[in-house]
Amino acid sequence: MASLDELYRQVILDHYRNPRRRGSLSGPHVHAEGLNPSCGDEFSIDLQIEDGVILDVAIQGQGCSISQASGSMMTEAIVGTTIDDARALSSTFKLMMGITEGEDPLDPERPGAVLGDLEALQGVRKFPVRIKCADLPWTTLADALDQADA
Ligand code: ZN
Repeated sequence: MASLDELYRQVILDHYRNPRRRGSLSGPHVHAEGLNPSCGDEFSIDLQIEDGVILDVAIQGQGCSISQASGSMMTEAIVGTTIDDARALSSTFKLMMGITEGEDPLDPERPGAVLGDLEALQGVRKFPVRIKCADLPWTTLADALDQADA
């Protein structure tokens, strides 16, 4: 029987090898770029937002499997949501990764939080230097959402 770690590794590799929503948007959109110098990861995102809803997402980037898989998983989690929901999801993700202090969102007693494939990244918590890799797409997303709000 495959261990949970092995299952998570497979989910991460699948997103790394087959990134979702890779490309760029041609219509009106906001664009943000991010860099994680400690690992050399690059990430950029296009968001089409109307009336506070993220209608479309496209990403590009290069770097380690953790950074790129995190970005791919993020696109699936945020497309179709509101800006507020995307920010709430980002907060939940940062709690799971130990980036911010607070209640563990993966506590089964805690209702509501659904991270889906993103839960596969929780093992990265054990490797502090890689947490920045997992967080890069989310800091880039925050930049894009701030532009959309402005
Ligand atoms: Zn990295």
